[in-house]
Amino acid sequence: MNLGVKALQEGLPEGAWSVDADIIAPQLTEWRDKYFGHTPIMLTPRNTSEVAQAVKLCALHGLKIVPQGGNTGLVGGQIPMGEVLLSLRKMTAVQSVNPTNNSIIIEAGATLRSLQEAADKAGRKFPLSLASEGSCTVGGVLSTNAGGVHVLKYGTTKDLVFGVEAVLADGRIFNGLTDLRKDNTGYDLNRLFLGAEGTLGIITMASLKLFPKPRHVQRAMVGLKTPQDALAILGLASGNPALAMFEVMPAIGMDLVTAHIEGQRYPFAGPHSWFALIDWEVESEAAGIGLAESVLGDALEKGLAQDVIIAQSGSQAAQLLALRENMSAGQKFLGGSVKLDITVPIFDIPDFLKKADTAILKAVPGARPVAFGHFGDGNIHYNIGRPEAMETDAFLARWDELSDIAFDVVESFGGSISAEHGIGIMKKDDLAARANVVKLSLLKAVKNALDPDNIMNPRVLI
Ligand SMILES: Cc1cc2nc3c(=O)[nH]c(=O)nc-3n(C[C@H](O)[C@H](O)[C@H](O)COP(=O)(O)OP(=O)(O)OC[C@H]3O[C@@H](n4cnc5c(N)ncnc54)[C@H](O)[C@@H]3O)c2cc1C
Repeated sequence: MNLGVKALQEGLPEGAWSVDADIIAPQLTEWRDKYFGHTPIMLTPRNTSEVAQAVKLCALHGLKIVPQGGNTGLVGGQIPMGEVLLSLRKMTAVQSVNPTNNSIIIEAGATLRSLQEAADKAGRKFPLSLASEGSCTVGGVLSTNAGGVHVLKYGTTKDLVFGVEAVLADGRIFNGLTDLRKDNTGYDLNRLFLGAEGTLGIITMASLKLFPKPRHVQRAMVGLKTPQDALAILGLASGNPALAMFEVMPAIGMDLVTAHIEGQRYPFAGPHSWFALIDWEVESEAAGIGLAESVLGDALEKGLAQDVIIAQSGSQAAQLLALRENMSAGQKFLGGSVKLDITVPIFDIPDFLKKADTAILKAVPGARPVAFGHFGDGNIHYNIGRPEAMETDAFLARWDELSDIAFDVVESFGGSISAEHGIGIMKKDDLAARANVVKLSLLKAVKNALDPDNIMNPRVLI
């Protein structure tokens, strides 16, 4: 290992690596404080050829690599455990923006927010939106196929990509940086890198789709009695192509956010058991208010909605969104949660919640499920807070048992054990145990074909 690390120091230009423990330390823990890593060296290449040079040296000296972008991943895939850490943070340039073709080419270390801003400056929209967008990077969202709050209108990250440039495990550069909308020339190799979690190569640049900017985004929040009512309101809203977001939160999540997160205020006069947060992208404010009043007036009349707030200003809309965006931060105050990210068919969400809550409470009486998220995509962040009387460590020691219980329920509805966060380290054993054998063998065949020596992120996914 030392020889290899020395070779990296000698073979790469100054500024493209660091062995300073203080500089490296923040990249070795992650947002949830669940994984703590170590590495002999952090590489910080400034362009694609430096990435290629670094990978060639690693391959030559038998060093394994963990790629890292913004370090906001939630399944541990970006944290090295002795491998070389390759951070893309210095590669942030916008290469080109083409408003006529609605496309942009940008380096992998740019944050999602800077990508959104570059699109905005060109009079366009890049629709991917996550609570972590100030930190997560283009390479990270592509590698995890991130979802976020606009999937029901624009799809997941995979749907927003024309092509990628990636450095392969032997240091060769794959150039798929097209912005062609049509290209039927064999397997779509670009797609291999999307959701691959850094196991097939290092994404260095991406060509991405932009969209017309909506003139007005109309936001509303609804107080509800049950998830079944949320489903019925989604049914009322989903016939209109303007619907861009449909998120749901439980009362326990709302209480945590408003009690503990600075600046967050409960928006309704009375209590509600559930809340839906809805966005419509429309031509004007008047059209937005008209649409919200029509859909939600209908919901009130049918007894599906208990109370409704239709945002009347940008700042009110931002306040409503902040309540949703702070759900994860608020949950930290439960003092230890098992966090799962699952999908089931949308129609089954209410039954899934009932069945999962029953099974979890049978195993751990007093556990506090906090189920929230991208209801409009069938994607629930099914998080389970510890019982008040149980020590955090004792509760978290039961993570695998509780996730198994919840995953059995997910499977009974034909759902997925990872909706948008990926597999990483956290769900690797679950994937191995639950995935179809043919799927697993194909995943392994692709990995072996592109990375036979298992250099790229060797401990994650498979
Ligand atoms: C508060 C919060 C809210 C979140 N909300 C959402 C949400 O709504 N939807 C959602 O999908 N996710 C969400 N996430 C998860 C996370 O933000 C996403 O997974 C994001 O895509 C990770 O980007 P990153 O740059 O931080 O990647 P990292 O955490 O650095 O890495 C994630 C994975 O990608 C690999 N990787 C990173 N960059 C590259 C590259 N250039 N080439 C190859 N592999 C690479 C890493 O090795 C690792 O396996 C949230 C996270 C937080 C903390």
